[in-house]
Amino acid sequence: AADNVKASNVAKIKVVVRKRPLNKKELAKNEEDIIDTYSNSLVVHETKLKVDLTEYMETHKFVFDAVLNEEVSNDEVYRETVEPIVPIIFQRTKATCFAYGQTGSGKTYTMKPLPLKAVRDILRLMHHTYRNQGFQLFFSFFEIYGGKLFDLLSDRKKLCMREDGKQQVCIVGLQEYRVVDVETVKELIEIGNATRSTGTTGANEESSRSHAILQLTIKRSADGSESKPARVVGKLSFIDLAGSERGADTTDNDKQTRMEGAEINKSLLALKECIRALDNDQGHIPFRGSKLTEVLRDSFVGNSRTVMISCISPNGGSCEHTLNTLRYADRVK
Ligand code: ADP
Ligand code: MG
Repeated sequence: AADNVKASNVAKIKVVVRKRPLNKKELAKNEEDIIDTYSNSLVVHETKLKVDLTEYMETHKFVFDAVLNEEVSNDEVYRETVEPIVPIIFQRTKATCFAYGQTGSGKTYTMKPLPLKAVRDILRLMHHTYRNQGFQLFFSFFEIYGGKLFDLLSDRKKLCMREDGKQQVCIVGLQEYRVVDVETVKELIEIGNATRSTGTTGANEESSRSHAILQLTIKRSADGSESKPARVVGKLSFIDLAGSERGADTTDNDKQTRMEGAEINKSLLALKECIRALDNDQGHIPFRGSKLTEVLRDSFVGNSRTVMISCISPNGGSCEHTLNTLRYADRVK
Protein backbone atom coordinates (compact mmCIF):
# COMPACT_ATOMS: atom_id res chain seq x y z
CA ALA A 1 0.00 0.00 0.00
CA ALA A 2 1.11 3.53 -0.63
CA ASP A 3 1.93 5.07 2.75
CA ASN A 4 0.71 8.51 1.77
CA VAL A 5 -2.88 7.47 0.98
CA LYS A 6 -5.26 10.29 1.85
CA ALA A 7 -8.37 9.42 3.82
CA SER A 8 -10.46 11.35 1.31
CA ASN A 9 -9.36 8.93 -1.43
CA VAL A 10 -10.71 5.90 0.38
CA ALA A 11 -14.39 5.02 -0.10
CA LYS A 12 -16.54 5.51 3.00
CA ILE A 13 -18.28 2.19 2.56
CA LYS A 14 -16.98 -0.77 0.67
CA VAL A 15 -19.00 -3.95 0.28
CA VAL A 16 -17.21 -7.11 -0.78
CA VAL A 17 -18.63 -10.62 -1.13
CA ARG A 18 -16.57 -13.73 -0.50
CA LYS A 19 -17.75 -17.11 -1.70
CA ARG A 20 -16.19 -20.19 -0.09
CA PRO A 21 -15.64 -23.52 -1.90
CA LEU A 22 -18.05 -26.45 -1.52
CA ASN A 23 -16.95 -28.51 1.49
CA LYS A 24 -16.56 -32.31 1.79
CA LYS A 25 -20.00 -32.76 3.31
CA GLU A 26 -21.69 -30.80 0.54
CA LEU A 27 -19.72 -32.66 -2.13
CA ALA A 28 -20.63 -36.01 -0.55
CA LYS A 29 -24.30 -35.03 -0.77
CA ASN A 30 -23.79 -34.07 -4.44
CA GLU A 31 -24.81 -30.53 -3.68
CA GLU A 32 -24.44 -28.08 -6.52
CA ASP A 33 -22.61 -24.80 -6.60
CA ILE A 34 -25.40 -22.36 -7.46
CA ILE A 35 -23.30 -19.19 -7.63
CA ASP A 36 -21.54 -17.75 -10.68
CA THR A 37 -19.06 -15.01 -9.87
CA TYR A 38 -17.66 -12.18 -11.98
CA SER A 39 -15.24 -9.44 -10.96
CA ASN A 40 -17.81 -7.29 -9.19
CA SER A 41 -21.08 -9.12 -9.64
CA LEU A 42 -22.59 -12.53 -9.07
CA VAL A 43 -25.60 -14.57 -10.07
CA VAL A 44 -27.49 -16.95 -7.77
CA HIS A 45 -29.44 -19.76 -9.45
CA GLU A 46 -32.37 -20.61 -7.25
CA THR A 47 -34.37 -23.78 -7.83
CA LYS A 48 -38.08 -23.25 -7.19
CA LEU A 49 -41.17 -25.41 -7.40
CA LYS A 50 -44.29 -24.65 -9.38
CA VAL A 51 -47.73 -25.55 -7.94
CA ASP A 52 -47.63 -28.80 -9.92
CA LEU A 53 -44.23 -29.49 -8.25
CA THR A 54 -42.18 -29.18 -11.43
CA GLU A 55 -38.89 -27.34 -10.92
CA TYR A 56 -37.87 -24.07 -12.48
CA MET A 57 -34.89 -21.76 -12.10
CA GLU A 58 -34.93 -18.21 -10.91
CA THR A 59 -31.76 -16.14 -11.24
CA HIS A 60 -30.79 -13.25 -8.98
CA LYS A 61 -28.07 -10.83 -9.99
CA PHE A 62 -26.16 -8.60 -7.54
CA VAL A 63 -23.44 -5.99 -8.05
CA PHE A 64 -20.89 -5.11 -5.34
CA ASP A 65 -17.57 -3.30 -5.06
CA ALA A 66 -15.82 -6.64 -5.47
CA VAL A 67 -16.70 -10.33 -5.56
CA LEU A 68 -14.05 -12.75 -4.33
CA ASN A 69 -14.56 -16.30 -5.50
CA GLU A 70 -13.50 -19.62 -3.94
CA GLU A 71 -10.03 -19.39 -5.49
CA VAL A 72 -9.15 -16.12 -3.81
CA SER A 73 -6.58 -16.44 -1.01
CA ASN A 74 -6.67 -14.76 2.38
CA ASP A 75 -3.76 -12.57 1.23
CA GLU A 76 -5.84 -11.30 -1.67
CA VAL A 77 -8.80 -10.71 0.64
CA TYR A 78 -6.54 -8.55 2.80
CA ARG A 79 -5.31 -6.57 -0.19
CA GLU A 80 -8.87 -5.93 -1.37
CA THR A 81 -10.37 -4.99 2.00
CA VAL A 82 -8.12 -3.89 4.88
CA GLU A 83 -4.81 -2.91 3.28
CA PRO A 84 -6.20 0.34 1.78
CA ILE A 85 -7.55 1.55 5.14
CA VAL A 86 -4.45 0.87 7.27
CA PRO A 87 -2.60 4.12 6.39
CA ILE A 88 -5.58 6.34 7.14
CA ILE A 89 -5.91 5.31 10.79
CA PHE A 90 -2.77 7.41 11.36
CA GLN A 91 -4.83 10.37 10.11
CA ARG A 92 -7.51 10.55 12.82
CA THR A 93 -9.78 8.07 11.11
CA LYS A 94 -11.69 5.15 12.57
CA ALA A 95 -12.20 2.19 10.31
CA THR A 96 -14.17 -1.01 10.78
CA CYS A 97 -14.14 -4.29 8.91
CA PHE A 98 -17.15 -6.59 9.37
CA ALA A 99 -17.63 -10.22 8.41
CA TYR A 100 -21.31 -10.94 7.87
CA GLY A 101 -23.03 -14.18 6.88
CA GLN A 102 -24.70 -17.39 8.00
CA THR A 103 -22.87 -19.81 10.30
CA GLY A 104 -20.45 -21.91 8.26
CA SER A 105 -20.11 -19.39 5.43
CA GLY A 106 -16.48 -18.52 6.27
CA LYS A 107 -16.66 -15.44 8.51
CA THR A 108 -14.03 -16.61 10.99
CA TYR A 109 -11.86 -18.16 8.28
CA THR A 110 -11.90 -14.79 6.52
CA MET A 111 -11.54 -12.55 9.56
CA LYS A 112 -8.92 -14.42 11.57
CA PRO A 113 -5.83 -13.58 9.46
CA LEU A 114 -6.75 -9.94 8.75
CA PRO A 115 -5.73 -8.27 12.05
CA LEU A 116 -2.32 -9.94 11.98
CA LYS A 117 -1.61 -8.65 8.48
CA ALA A 118 -2.83 -5.20 9.54
CA VAL A 119 -0.51 -5.20 12.58
CA ARG A 120 2.43 -6.08 10.32
CA ASP A 121 1.62 -3.06 8.11
CA ILE A 122 0.89 -0.72 11.02
CA LEU A 123 4.22 -1.54 12.70
CA ARG A 124 6.00 -1.03 9.40
CA LEU A 125 4.42 2.44 9.10
CA MET A 126 5.33 3.24 12.71
CA HIS A 127 8.95 2.21 12.12
CA HIS A 128 9.39 4.01 8.83
CA THR A 129 6.96 6.71 7.68
CA TYR A 130 6.06 7.70 11.28
CA ARG A 131 9.38 6.89 12.90
CA ASN A 132 10.02 8.65 16.25
CA GLN A 133 6.68 10.45 16.20
CA GLY A 134 5.38 8.94 19.42
CA PHE A 135 2.78 6.62 17.90
CA GLN A 136 1.85 3.53 19.88
CA LEU A 137 -0.28 0.53 18.99
CA PHE A 138 -2.72 -1.22 21.36
CA PHE A 139 -4.69 -4.44 21.04
CA SER A 140 -7.97 -5.54 22.65
CA PHE A 141 -10.39 -8.36 21.97
CA PHE A 142 -13.89 -8.80 23.41
CA GLU A 143 -17.28 -10.18 22.51
CA ILE A 144 -20.91 -9.22 22.75
CA TYR A 145 -23.07 -12.13 23.79
CA GLY A 146 -26.74 -11.74 24.65
CA GLY A 147 -26.25 -7.96 24.76
CA LYS A 148 -23.42 -8.17 27.32
CA LEU A 149 -19.69 -7.54 26.93
CA PHE A 150 -16.99 -10.09 27.78
CA ASP A 151 -13.22 -9.72 27.60
CA LEU A 152 -11.75 -12.48 25.43
CA LEU A 153 -8.27 -11.81 26.83
CA SER A 154 -9.31 -12.04 30.50
CA ASP A 155 -11.15 -15.33 30.65
CA ARG A 156 -14.44 -13.76 29.62
CA LYS A 157 -14.54 -11.19 32.38
CA LYS A 158 -17.79 -9.24 32.16
CA LEU A 159 -17.30 -5.62 31.11
CA CYS A 160 -19.42 -2.50 31.03
CA MET A 161 -19.48 0.46 28.75
CA ARG A 162 -19.33 4.14 29.54
CA GLU A 163 -19.46 7.20 27.34
CA ASP A 164 -17.48 10.31 28.07
CA GLY A 165 -18.78 13.76 27.10
CA LYS A 166 -16.85 13.73 23.82
CA GLN A 167 -18.60 10.82 22.10
CA GLN A 168 -15.75 8.54 23.10
CA VAL A 169 -16.73 5.05 24.08
CA CYS A 170 -14.95 3.59 27.07
CA ILE A 171 -15.18 -0.06 28.04
CA VAL A 172 -14.36 -0.21 31.72
CA GLY A 173 -11.77 -2.84 32.63
CA LEU A 174 -11.06 -3.96 29.08
CA GLN A 175 -7.54 -5.39 28.78
CA GLU A 176 -5.43 -3.39 26.37
CA TYR A 177 -2.05 -4.73 25.33
CA ARG A 178 0.68 -2.54 23.92
CA VAL A 179 1.88 -4.11 20.68
CA VAL A 180 5.50 -3.98 19.60
CA ASP A 181 5.77 -7.16 17.53
CA VAL A 182 3.64 -9.41 15.34
CA GLU A 183 4.34 -12.59 17.35
CA THR A 184 2.59 -11.32 20.49
CA VAL A 185 -0.48 -10.42 18.46
CA LYS A 186 -0.55 -13.87 16.93
CA GLU A 187 -0.72 -15.36 20.44
CA LEU A 188 -3.38 -12.88 21.61
CA ILE A 189 -5.57 -13.72 18.62
CA GLU A 190 -5.21 -17.44 19.32
CA ILE A 191 -6.12 -16.94 22.99
CA GLY A 192 -9.12 -14.76 22.13
CA ASN A 193 -10.47 -17.11 19.49
CA ALA A 194 -10.04 -20.13 21.76
CA THR A 195 -11.82 -18.34 24.60
CA ARG A 196 -14.60 -17.41 22.24
CA SER A 197 -15.39 -20.70 20.61
CA THR A 198 -15.37 -22.81 23.77
CA GLY A 199 -17.54 -20.33 25.69
CA THR A 200 -18.91 -21.11 29.12
CA THR A 201 -20.56 -24.42 28.26
CA GLY A 202 -17.86 -25.58 25.88
CA ALA A 203 -20.37 -25.73 23.08
CA ASN A 204 -18.79 -24.84 19.77
CA GLU A 205 -21.92 -23.33 18.33
CA GLU A 206 -21.95 -20.57 20.93
CA SER A 207 -19.58 -18.50 18.83
CA SER A 208 -22.32 -18.24 16.21
CA ARG A 209 -24.41 -16.29 18.72
CA SER A 210 -21.81 -13.70 19.62
CA HIS A 211 -20.11 -10.77 17.91
CA ALA A 212 -16.32 -10.85 18.35
CA ILE A 213 -14.65 -7.44 18.30
CA LEU A 214 -10.90 -7.08 17.89
CA GLN A 215 -9.59 -3.54 18.06
CA LEU A 216 -6.26 -2.04 17.07
CA THR A 217 -5.90 1.43 18.52
CA ILE A 218 -3.25 3.95 17.50
CA LYS A 219 -2.33 6.43 20.21
CA ARG A 220 0.09 9.30 20.34
CA SER A 221 1.46 11.28 23.24
CA ALA A 222 1.01 15.05 23.25
CA ASP A 223 4.65 15.98 22.66
CA GLY A 224 5.40 13.06 20.38
CA SER A 225 7.54 11.30 22.99
CA GLU A 226 6.86 7.80 24.27
CA SER A 227 6.94 8.70 27.96
CA LYS A 228 3.87 10.98 28.16
CA PRO A 229 0.28 9.65 28.35
CA ALA A 230 -1.05 8.94 24.89
CA ARG A 231 -4.33 9.90 23.23
CA VAL A 232 -6.31 7.95 20.68
CA VAL A 233 -5.53 8.95 17.09
CA GLY A 234 -7.28 6.22 15.11
CA LYS A 235 -8.79 2.82 15.44
CA LEU A 236 -9.17 -0.25 13.28
CA SER A 237 -11.88 -2.68 14.39
CA PHE A 238 -12.44 -6.21 13.13
CA ILE A 239 -15.88 -7.62 13.80
CA ASP A 240 -16.72 -11.28 13.34
CA LEU A 241 -20.52 -10.99 13.55
CA ALA A 242 -22.94 -13.53 14.95
CA GLY A 243 -24.39 -15.94 12.37
CA SER A 244 -26.94 -13.94 10.40
CA GLU A 245 -29.44 -16.82 10.57
CA ARG A 246 -29.42 -16.52 14.39
CA GLY A 247 -31.44 -13.35 14.15
CA ALA A 248 -34.33 -15.55 13.07
CA ASP A 249 -34.21 -17.65 16.27
CA THR A 250 -37.05 -15.60 17.69
CA THR A 251 -39.61 -18.40 17.67
CA ASP A 252 -37.37 -21.09 19.18
CA ASN A 253 -38.79 -23.19 22.02
CA ASP A 254 -35.94 -22.25 24.33
CA LYS A 255 -36.41 -18.87 26.01
CA GLN A 256 -32.67 -18.13 26.21
CA THR A 257 -32.24 -18.85 22.49
CA ARG A 258 -35.23 -16.64 21.67
CA MET A 259 -33.81 -13.75 23.66
CA GLU A 260 -30.41 -14.09 22.05
CA GLY A 261 -32.03 -14.31 18.62
CA ALA A 262 -33.96 -11.10 19.24
CA GLU A 263 -30.78 -9.33 20.38
CA ILE A 264 -28.84 -10.49 17.30
CA ASN A 265 -31.67 -9.46 15.00
CA LYS A 266 -31.80 -6.03 16.63
CA SER A 267 -28.05 -5.52 16.38
CA LEU A 268 -27.77 -6.54 12.71
CA LEU A 269 -30.64 -4.22 11.79
CA ALA A 270 -29.12 -1.35 13.78
CA LEU A 271 -25.74 -2.00 12.19
CA LYS A 272 -27.19 -1.72 8.70
CA GLU A 273 -28.82 1.60 9.57
CA CYS A 274 -25.64 3.00 11.14
CA ILE A 275 -23.51 2.09 8.13
CA ARG A 276 -26.07 3.61 5.79
CA ALA A 277 -26.04 6.80 7.87
CA LEU A 278 -22.28 7.09 7.26
CA ASP A 279 -23.03 7.97 3.66
CA ASN A 280 -24.79 11.22 4.49
CA ASP A 281 -22.64 13.01 7.04
CA GLN A 282 -25.19 15.16 8.83
CA GLY A 283 -27.73 12.37 9.11
CA HIS A 284 -28.90 11.06 12.47
CA ILE A 285 -26.93 7.96 13.48
CA PRO A 286 -29.21 5.40 15.16
CA PHE A 287 -26.44 3.77 17.22
CA ARG A 288 -28.64 3.44 20.31
CA GLY A 289 -30.46 0.57 18.63
CA SER A 290 -28.19 -2.11 20.10
CA LYS A 291 -25.15 -2.88 22.23
CA LEU A 292 -23.08 -3.58 19.12
CA THR A 293 -23.74 -0.18 17.56
CA GLU A 294 -23.35 1.62 20.90
CA VAL A 295 -19.93 0.07 21.38
CA LEU A 296 -18.98 1.12 17.85
CA ARG A 297 -20.49 4.55 18.22
CA ASP A 298 -17.22 6.42 17.69
CA SER A 299 -16.68 4.43 14.49
CA PHE A 300 -19.89 5.71 12.94
CA VAL A 301 -19.19 9.41 13.25
CA GLY A 302 -17.17 11.92 11.26
CA ASN A 303 -14.92 10.56 8.59
CA SER A 304 -15.18 6.88 9.49
CA ARG A 305 -14.65 4.08 7.01
CA THR A 306 -16.44 0.73 6.80
CA VAL A 307 -15.63 -2.45 4.91
CA MET A 308 -18.28 -5.15 4.91
CA ILE A 309 -17.21 -8.63 3.87
CA SER A 310 -20.31 -10.70 3.17
CA CYS A 311 -19.51 -14.40 3.33
CA ILE A 312 -21.62 -16.84 1.36
CA SER A 313 -21.84 -20.61 1.01
CA PRO A 314 -22.02 -21.92 -2.56
CA ASN A 315 -24.39 -24.87 -2.07
CA GLY A 316 -28.01 -25.09 -3.13
CA GLY A 317 -29.11 -25.98 0.40
CA SER A 318 -27.96 -22.57 1.64
CA CYS A 319 -29.73 -20.64 -1.10
CA GLU A 320 -32.22 -18.86 1.14
CA HIS A 321 -29.57 -17.75 3.65
CA THR A 322 -27.28 -16.70 0.82
CA LEU A 323 -29.98 -14.52 -0.73
CA ASN A 324 -30.68 -12.98 2.68
CA THR A 325 -26.97 -12.18 3.12
CA LEU A 326 -26.71 -10.65 -0.35
CA ARG A 327 -29.84 -8.55 0.15
CA TYR A 328 -28.46 -7.25 3.44
CA ALA A 329 -25.14 -6.39 1.76
CA ASP A 330 -27.02 -4.73 -1.08
CA ARG A 331 -28.84 -2.43 1.34
CA VAL A 332 -25.64 -1.44 3.12
CA LYS A 333 -24.08 -0.11 -0.10
P1 ADP B 1 -18.34 -19.11 10.16
O1 ADP B 1 -17.34 -18.42 11.03
O2 ADP B 1 -19.03 -18.18 9.21
O3 ADP B 1 -19.32 -19.93 10.95
P2 ADP B 1 -16.05 -20.66 9.35
O4 ADP B 1 -15.11 -19.55 9.06
O5 ADP B 1 -15.88 -21.36 10.64
O6 ADP B 1 -17.56 -20.14 9.22
O7 ADP B 1 -15.99 -21.65 8.11
C1 ADP B 1 -16.66 -22.90 8.11
C2 ADP B 1 -15.72 -23.97 7.54
O8 ADP B 1 -15.43 -23.70 6.17
C3 ADP B 1 -14.39 -24.02 8.25
O9 ADP B 1 -13.98 -25.37 8.35
C4 ADP B 1 -13.46 -23.25 7.33
O10 ADP B 1 -12.13 -23.68 7.45
C5 ADP B 1 -14.04 -23.53 5.95
N1 ADP B 1 -13.85 -22.40 5.04
C6 ADP B 1 -14.49 -21.23 5.09
N2 ADP B 1 -14.14 -20.41 4.09
C7 ADP B 1 -13.23 -21.08 3.36
C8 ADP B 1 -12.47 -20.76 2.17
N3 ADP B 1 -12.59 -19.58 1.56
N4 ADP B 1 -11.61 -21.71 1.71
C9 ADP B 1 -11.50 -22.89 2.33
N5 ADP B 1 -12.17 -23.25 3.43
C10 ADP B 1 -13.04 -22.36 3.96
MG1 MG C 1 -17.25 -18.30 13.09
